[in-house]
Amino acid sequence: MSKIRVLSDAVADQIAAGEVVERPASVVKELVENSLDAGATQIDIQIEDGGKSLVCVADDGMGMDRDDAVMAIDRHATSKISTIGDLVGVPTYGFRGEALPSIASVSMFELETAASREAESTDEGTRIVVRGGRLETIDVIARDRGTTVTVKRLFFNTPARRKFLRTTKTETRAAIQAVAVLALARLDVAFKLTSDGKVKIDTPRVASIADRIAALFGRSTAEQLVPDEYASGPIAVRGFVQRPADAKPSGRKTHLFVNGRPFRDPFLVRAAEAGYRATIAPGNRPSVFLSLSIDGDRVDVNVHPAKMEVRFRDRFLVERTVEDAVRSGLAPIDAAAIVTSSYATPQDGLGDDFRGGPTYSPRNDREAYPRGEDQLAHLPQSLFPENEIETFARNRGELLQVFNTYVLSETPEGISIVDQHSAHERILYEKAIAELNGAASAAQRLLLPLTLDLEPRELEIIDQERESLMAVGFEVEDFGGRSIVVHAVPNPHPRFDARRCLEELIADLAFGRLDGLNRIERFAATYACRAAIKAGQKLELSEMRDLLTQLYACELPPHDVHGRPTIVMLPRAELEHRFGRS
Ligand code: ADP
Ligand code: MG
Repeated sequence: MSKIRVLSDAVADQIAAGEVVERPASVVKELVENSLDAGATQIDIQIEDGGKSLVCVADDGMGMDRDDAVMAIDRHATSKISTIGDLVGVPTYGFRGEALPSIASVSMFELETAASREAESTDEGTRIVVRGGRLETIDVIARDRGTTVTVKRLFFNTPARRKFLRTTKTETRAAIQAVAVLALARLDVAFKLTSDGKVKIDTPRVASIADRIAALFGRSTAEQLVPDEYASGPIAVRGFVQRPADAKPSGRKTHLFVNGRPFRDPFLVRAAEAGYRATIAPGNRPSVFLSLSIDGDRVDVNVHPAKMEVRFRDRFLVERTVEDAVRSGLAPIDAAAIVTSSYATPQDGLGDDFRGGPTYSPRNDREAYPRGEDQLAHLPQSLFPENEIETFARNRGELLQVFNTYVLSETPEGISIVDQHSAHERILYEKAIAELNGAASAAQRLLLPLTLDLEPRELEIIDQERESLMAVGFEVEDFGGRSIVVHAVPNPHPRFDARRCLEELIADLAFGRLDGLNRIERFAATYACRAAIKAGQKLELSEMRDLLTQLYACELPPHDVHGRPTIVMLPRAELEHRFGRS
């Protein structure tokens, strides 16, 4: 007897189910994607026990007539593609025709649907019941246009799989996450998710992703984000990046979309992190929400059965563009740290600081966050319209130095507080990077050369870094033994102590550490730190003015090179709020 057998459809479906249906959240994802593909504008999702006992997805999409509904639960039945050529740049979420039969093979499955062409007629629907892959009944029912799929007792007939399900809490979180991801991708659709009778997501159709982020994750998360828009060559990037000052080592959210489709890509997340280089402390993990637009033939979305992975034709280009996009998003003054009382601690029963929209509680009534289309009005708008940094620098009025360390000034939007040392560090860092890349430096020749005595390890550093030292303005010569002679030095500010700076710089390079930076960046950062004006130094008015003008001419004014802010904004709105004026 032959050992090779053709598998029955039922077994094949159960095997396919292993790829497509890993857990209740994958059922949620597949069903919601089908609703989106059907053109739904409102999708209601209910789960019980984390989806283990019930997942129900109801939509107002185009529905199916009876023949299509019966076909839909057949393997490889799809209305979305018919030839392999259609796969290139496929605009729908589904196209494999595997989800419904797979889900139906491992659950108690019920499909109710109606596809009335005319808006008025509301009957002639179909109900199909499938139990563990066996078709039980097909009935005529009356219902509105749209589709409702009910999946009960997932994996009831595959105990091995059922065993792998996690706790209700974990499965619930995964299901919410699956809906959140799609809700971020499709602003034109309203979503409601109820878990064991509790509303976890309830968001109307919105105009901006900022509104969605606020509705899904709460206002505190939204307030930490700054808008990012960038285009280069064939790729455009839009989205939001977290203010460096708010990045934490854990709890970050990274959401990537390509042509409206959510996907996972640790390398792109890393590229986005690279964009934060030297603006956040090593170990902090920033949140990013980035949506890429790219020609359909430059990206293949047909890589993974659950379709969360994509393949780019030119991965290097995509990574570089994402890094540059993030970097450009961090440049505006808007990305500076903000003083505000409204940062609530994000938390609810779901952990991972995921917050269902309607369930979070603002600290007091005045902060109550209106729901609906108005949400955007309550998000922090860009503090300055695009590219107004220069005007900002020019128009600032009085400058006040406090504690011999901070420079305060009034801006149209509030009070800007600049740390003189961090700001100068940022300025010198960018200048040093330019000089290390070949820009001329303004070294001063010394009439009386300096002589320094160094440790052997420090002498090695002098040898290794001689060119870099030269680039920023230190002309150093060996003097024999442990001594060096310094003939020229940079002049970053009037009270610059060249000897002390060079000693500290060399000691830092020899014995210190600066993680996450390459050799050039490390040199520049160390030099900038040691050469910058110190805290506690009284400044003249003209010096303060110069400092701010130079700061705003930098590539990334709001961040120093150690992951600290150079500017902290105290928004006028916050003062008005505190004093009860708003
Ligand atoms: P795929 O989405 O890959 O085509 P599925 O098994 O998920 O495969 O769905 C099979 C087919 O059933 C779809 O191509 C579509 O025609 C139809 N269908 C599924 N869900 C819905 C829905 N909510 N509304 C209308 N049609 C649907
Ligand atoms: Mg599908």
